[in-house]
Amino acid sequence: MTRLMLAELAKLLDLQSKDLILLEADVRLKATLDEKARLDTDLEAARREAQVAQNRLEDGVKKREDVEVKIDSYRTIQEKRRSRLEVARGAREAQAVMTEVDMARQVLAKEEGEWVKVSEAVHDLERGLKAAEDRAAALQESQTAERERIEAEQAAIETERQAAKATRDASATQIEKTLKARYDRLRSARSVAVVVSLRGDACGACFTAVPRNRRTQIRAGLVFDNCEACGVILYAEESLG
Ligand SMILES: [Zn+2]
Repeated sequence: MTRLMLAELAKLLDLQSKDLILLEADVRLKATLDEKARLDTDLEAARREAQVAQNRLEDGVKKREDVEVKIDSYRTIQEKRRSRLEVARGAREAQAVMTEVDMARQVLAKEEGEWVKVSEAVHDLERGLKAAEDRAAALQESQTAERERIEAEQAAIETERQAAKATRDASATQIEKTLKARYDRLRSARSVAVVVSLRGDACGACFTAVPRNRRTQIRAGLVFDNCEACGVILYAEESLG
């Protein structure tokens, strides 16, 4: 292998190893973001449950108010009937009003029974809301330590990542322009190694056989050849010496 090509290959492999470190930092960073998202999802679910309980309670309270309004109006009407009873002329009219009063009393008793039922339901809903709010608060509390740990981890990885990026960028400037462009193009398409050694007669990445004449050229260090199948830049391990 020519000394110049050997030097370029060494720089390329150096850049690649630094890019893999950068990639590894990115993967870990993504994992912390996923972890955070999972905590957020859990907390949102708990808060949504509390919101649903809140809405149900409001519906219940509204229903109780409706029944109260109804009962009030029935009572008012009933008062008027009683007044009419007092001024009723004759037994027949008095009897008719009495019948009305009795019937209305039954209706009123039914509504009052309904009120008791609805009130009990409201109390249940209040307890349900309290429980849901307590659960959400407890979950938030239990997540605090985990969130702090994730934040710290994230900050550490960010720092690591910035250092890895600077190191990588410094190495990248050392590489010949067209070769670097080739490398970058491959890297943008693949997240794994893009400079790969021959494995026997085949590409070390996809294991597709590399034709003999090209293998010979690669081994001789005459060209930076690409694998015809997967496109990686091929080199021969033995040429590194
Ligand atoms: Zn290949």
